[in-house]
Amino acid sequence: MREFGYQRAHDVPGAVALLGADPDARFLGGGTNLVDLMKAGVERPTRLVDVRELPLDRVEPAPGGGLRIGATVTNSDLAAHPEVRRRYPALTQALLAGASGQLRNMATVGGNLLQRTRCGYFTDPAKACNKRVPGSGCPAIEGEHHNHAILGGSEQCVAVHPSDMGVALTAFDAVVSYEAADGPGELPLAEFYLPVGDTPHQETALPPGALITGVTLPPAPAHALSRYRKVRERASYAFAIGSVAAALGVEDGVVREVRLAFGAVASRPWRAREAERALTGGPASAEAFAAAADTELAAARPLPGNGYKVTLMRNLVVAVLTDLTEEATR
Ligand code: SF4
Repeated sequence: MREFGYQRAHDVPGAVALLGADPDARFLGGGTNLVDLMKAGVERPTRLVDVRELPLDRVEPAPGGGLRIGATVTNSDLAAHPEVRRRYPALTQALLAGASGQLRNMATVGGNLLQRTRCGYFTDPAKACNKRVPGSGCPAIEGEHHNHAILGGSEQCVAVHPSDMGVALTAFDAVVSYEAADGPGELPLAEFYLPVGDTPHQETALPPGALITGVTLPPAPAHALSRYRKVRERASYAFAIGSVAAALGVEDGVVREVRLAFGAVASRPWRAREAERALTGGPASAEAFAAAADTELAAARPLPGNGYKVTLMRNLVVAVLTDLTEEATR
């Protein structure tokens, strides 16, 4: 591992100033992804600016009825928060589906959003990878890609974003707050992650050196139940090969409101807006759920080794929406 400096930040402006003075420094939250990447030689920061003691560890009511979640709230604390469990159950389920208990006790909300892909070529500095070394190539396209993207990829990169939490936050229309050198700003999660295009190394729209300070959840959809379901290759402590976060409001057998986001199928949590449009105002039936999933997945461009994900996601959408419909009519 490259030698690095360490500094603890005592306030948000100070943390941003420290990074501004050293563009090769990185913020340190729980370190559950960053430190692994440093050990592998993928990340080589000159300095770590520890933000864990900043006053960003609260979950509070937000104006208008939502929730404001500080960036250093741990995944465990967020999953257990009574208001999250009561109003945003899909978020609690997504958090509890991620990693292990020990990792959730360390991992922070800000770090979870910024975690890097687990593509095996990216995490091995001996291999080419456009995301790690722009212009070096993407061996995954011809090589190992069974867990890579089917939606929104490019010829430069087909990696998927590994977050479970981010999928639920996307379904709930969360907004990311940050502090940059020129002041605070906000980004809806739908605009937070950049399309892959020709620049897979540029993953977010955060200004350089900006610190995520929190995430705001708007009020949960009225009369809608929510759920997160994750498919993985073993029962625990594994990344998704496909996941769905959904909120569904059904009245007299008709879909009144629906939010749908997919995980592990694209470089970012994928908001399934085509499916939402197809479902809204229509029957809450398995046939309609399958047709809506097909509408969304018509844009899928699977590689030879990951076409199974199209079927998997279709079945997952039907299963989750059917469960929510049954729960709503119980
Ligand atoms: Fe690198 Fe992306 Fe290709 Fe993986 S899929 S090797 S992260 S460029």
